[in-house]
Amino acid sequence: MALIPFSPPRIDDEIIQEVTAALKSGWITTGPRTKQFEKELSAYNGNEYTLCLNSATAGLEIMLRWFGVKEGDEVILPAYTYAATANVVVHCGARPVLVDVNASDFNINVENVKAAITSKTKVIMPVDFGGLPCDYTALMEVVNSGDVKSKFNAETEIQKKLGRIMILSDAAHSLGATYHGKRTGIWADASVFSFHAVKNLTTAEGGAIALMLPPPFSNEEIYKFLCIYTLHGQNKDALAKMQKGNWKYDIIEAGFKCNMTDLVAAIGLIELRRYNDDTLVVRKQVCDYYYDALSAFDWAQLPILRDEHRESSYHLFPLRIKGVSEEQRDAIIQAIFDEDVSVNVHFIPLPQLSFYKKQGFNIDDYPVTYSNFATEISLPIFYDLTIEQKQRVVSAVVKAVESVLVKAT
Ligand SMILES: *Cc1c(COP(=O)(O)O)cnc(C)c1O
Repeated sequence: MALIPFSPPRIDDEIIQEVTAALKSGWITTGPRTKQFEKELSAYNGNEYTLCLNSATAGLEIMLRWFGVKEGDEVILPAYTYAATANVVVHCGARPVLVDVNASDFNINVENVKAAITSKTKVIMPVDFGGLPCDYTALMEVVNSGDVKSKFNAETEIQKKLGRIMILSDAAHSLGATYHGKRTGIWADASVFSFHAVKNLTTAEGGAIALMLPPPFSNEEIYKFLCIYTLHGQNKDALAKMQKGNWKYDIIEAGFKCNMTDLVAAIGLIELRRYNDDTLVVRKQVCDYYYDALSAFDWAQLPILRDEHRESSYHLFPLRIKGVSEEQRDAIIQAIFDEDVSVNVHFIPLPQLSFYKKQGFNIDDYPVTYSNFATEISLPIFYDLTIEQKQRVVSAVVKAVESVLVKAT
């Protein structure tokens, strides 16, 4: 039987036609399609200004740098996330402070966040794991509370203006998810989405910063500054320089170079226009199918897909197998692959990766992260997954788990 892939992109004629149109338009780098994609993303999420870049990683780092995060500062993030969330903190010379997550939903634990705050804390980076939003109301309450605010050591004009710790959401998974009925992108000071090839909405590689800084900040001004900051600090972009006689430019900062191209924005435009009423509907159906089919088994610890205040973007279906060891989980994964079904693990905890181990992190300090990881298996979700394939996934999982559990008894 053919291998069921984990998460292939949906590249069809509509996408190919739009990319072809971009190629033929004579404008392939940042230009009208990128700007249109930004506008449509803002309309979708409900914020005013969104900046598209070449990755979510770049977006996270740019926001940390905009806020002035530097050596000696601390940034709090979950131990259970992809390395990008922590690497950008290291790039800025600051110290990632890892905290343990919730057993229920894999997200950062707010009590642990509170306990980790010091006078060096500049930013908290919650991660909407698998597409389920974090508790932003609670996080905002923490950073706005009197004693946390009085501890905050504002060192730059921007930090003084905010007057508290910034919440920078790693929303790489959660485009289209809702919290209190409203989409992610408006709940943190800034939220960063990923359009990497395996994400819910892809542009091959890409990302976007949804700006939501509170007054007296002007998100329009920040957006304009970031456009320049992500293009070498050059005060005119390539499109502006195309205007007749408009060749002179200045460099106002030693800026970065991580703009999105119109070629990939073309993919994003098509993806976004069919996202809510097509992509998300199908992803939800896949997750609901797995949920219902696996709820019959005592060993299955099913993920939260929605609850009173939240609905996932259905990016992942992070199944956990109750009580298994990491070795047993690995054996189950092997047995699932033997049935020609691709699965994955999200993620290897940061304290188990060589670089972060060398920084002194120890997985023993993160028991919930470890047990989430050791028992987790992410099931395949993609647009063209057929009903027969969904059935095969479930049978492969059941067969694999039961064979390993039988061996253990
Ligand atoms: C994919 C991912 C990122 C990075 O996204 P890129 O667009 O590849 O830079 C960051 N955080 C999490 C949790 C991710 O899964």
